[in-house]
Amino acid sequence: MNFEELIKELNKNLVVIDSQKKENTIYIKCEMKTSQSKCPYCESLSDSIHSKYIRTISDLPIQNNKVKLLIIVRKFFCSNPNCNHKTFGEKLNFVETKSVKTNRLIEYINTIGLRDSAMDAVRTLAESGIKISSSTVLRIVKKNKNNHNL
Ligand SMILES: [Zn+2]
Repeated sequence: MNFEELIKELNKNLVVIDSQKKENTIYIKCEMKTSQSKCPYCESLSDSIHSKYIRTISDLPIQNNKVKLLIIVRKFFCSNPNCNHKTFGEKLNFVETKSVKTNRLIEYINTIGLRDSAMDAVRTLAESGIKISSSTVLRIVKKNKNNHNL
């Protein structure tokens, strides 16, 4: 199976390094192929890599299989000597900083959560490979509602 296209929809600079299917989960290892990243604190561009780590993020299921993205995220040195931050983590535009779910997965859960009762939403999502509790569905719907009201 070729996941490149699905991954590119998240960000065109994302490339698949490896993929593996274990039982009902597809693991897709990927990384950004950009050579530079912008410091979120001072906006300076840097191409000096401090370290790399892996972030595991759930994405939309594929044919009822759970999808876990193993993203190799880079930490950069800020190139600006006047910046208060020596390093910064690469910003990914398709997932919030502390989130373990892609924005498009959250959007999907929100859509189902708004349409169905929480219990029905849990069932519908489970059928498509998303294991989630009713309280998490409610939390996501509530949070999205708050964001839209701002
Ligand atoms: Zn900086």
